[in-house]
Amino acid sequence: MGVHATTGKEISIDVSIRKPVVDSCKGCANLVEVDGTSYCAVYQDPKLRWVFGTCPMATHVERKWDEGKKKINPLKASKRAARG
Ligand code: SF4
Repeated sequence: MGVHATTGKEISIDVSIRKPVVDSCKGCANLVEVDGTSYCAVYQDPKLRWVFGTCPMATHVERKWDEGKKKINPLKASKRAARG
């Protein structure tokens, strides 16, 4: 049993199959404290969630989307370029 960082409620997680959180997880609302060690309530191995960028379930990180960019169909773009 662990204590959920956000709700303060007791939550049942199996720490034998989970790895502790990494530094990037600090401040996330999905942290669960078990015997002084923080675990993630969502993922078993939090380190893997940060390998290719920001963790998709991180609540403490603001994501920036490419709002200004317009998607261009590469086929149409090549036809347009061929026309001149
Ligand atoms: S959801 Fe992501 S950022 Fe939050 S504790 Fe889990 S692995 Fe870390």
